[in-house]
Amino acid sequence: MGGQAFGPRRRSAAVNVGGVMVGGGHPIVVQSMTNTDTADADATALQVAQLAHAGSELVRITVNTEAAAAAVPEIVRKVRGLGVSAPIVGDFHYNGHKLLADYPETARALAKYRINPGNVGSGRHHDDHFEAIVRIAIDNGKPVRIGVNWGSLDQAVLAEMMDANARLPQPKNARDVMIEAMVESALRSAELAEVTGLGHDRIILSAKVSGVRDLMEVYQRLAARGDYALHLGLTEAGMGMKGIVASSAGLSLLLAEGIGDTIRVSITPEPGGDRTEEVAVAQQVLQSLGLRSFMPQVSSCPGCGRTTSVYFQELARDVQSYLREQMPLWRERHPGVEELRVAVMGCVVNGPGESKHADVGISLPGTFEEPVAPVFIDGALDRTLRGDHIVDEFKAILDSYVDRRFPAPGALAGR
Ligand code: SF4
Repeated sequence: MGGQAFGPRRRSAAVNVGGVMVGGGHPIVVQSMTNTDTADADATALQVAQLAHAGSELVRITVNTEAAAAAVPEIVRKVRGLGVSAPIVGDFHYNGHKLLADYPETARALAKYRINPGNVGSGRHHDDHFEAIVRIAIDNGKPVRIGVNWGSLDQAVLAEMMDANARLPQPKNARDVMIEAMVESALRSAELAEVTGLGHDRIILSAKVSGVRDLMEVYQRLAARGDYALHLGLTEAGMGMKGIVASSAGLSLLLAEGIGDTIRVSITPEPGGDRTEEVAVAQQVLQSLGLRSFMPQVSSCPGCGRTTSVYFQELARDVQSYLREQMPLWRERHPGVEELRVAVMGCVVNGPGESKHADVGISLPGTFEEPVAPVFIDGALDRTLRGDHIVDEFKAILDSYVDRRFPAPGALAGR
């Protein structure tokens, strides 16, 4: 799968972020952000590595204090020492101009700077501080993301647009003006960055809101008014299922329109929860849309009254876990294995049919059915499993299918 969108993908400028290409038709990049105290270099480096291992292709860290800024070069060294090459991006608010000027090694170590035009300063300081960050980016050959957020929208832009709207014979509603103000804030900031000397291909834009309909509208307008690479994300998406569903809905609608060059899923983790969940969700969104492949996909039916035991659910879970466990090794040894499709079905009603559409499928016996499990490979009945070792036998079938269908590069030469 090479990035086939539902419609044509929007043309955008390609931006090189520490060797990872964003936009310009390159595969949509998955990114994430740490939630450790950046001043704690060990904890932050470890989480950056965890996120990268989970598949995050860019990892952002907040740089909010002098201690955090001072820790960045050490974090980057530690991360590289762990064998992780993912570019590390700095997230700046309020004091980015000062921290980047005072910590030049940090400015060099980061792959990109995120600037929030809503909090770089007010009045005459606004443009001075913004330009100061942009000049440091130019001096260090770094791109920036101009990241507008409705929770910290540039109040000067909003007030100006509200005033202009109030003078219209038929004023627009406040939501409409707010969305337009976000787009204006992003585009005016990009223009200021370019006037300051930053290349067009060094700028990524985002304009995040927390509602799906607002997100669609703001990005559709942003996409229509330029070719800057766009970073998509629903901000403050929420916890658990709400955050996952809202993010998936918002991102999918835009991605299906060909809008978006890099995505981040901003879900609130459970206390002590796994931060890498946001990476898994982002990957699953892209894979479900057929835009990228990261993991073999398991289709399984929901089960119903025809599957009264939990055996079928356990098999679906075990197969899913087995594939996840194998992936680090398989990814190295079996290029293309992320395209594998597996079906685990609960009974004879849809089992054989769905299994035939997968590369490898198994249809378990439903209640009152003969206790046998037909296995389909490449659409044809291959064998029938029975007895107490169906799970292990099915895993062995998966292993041999992967060996055969996705051979190690060296193995091909000998054939
Ligand atoms: S395949 Fe069988 S067990 Fe699964 S939902 Fe359909 S009827 Fe129920």
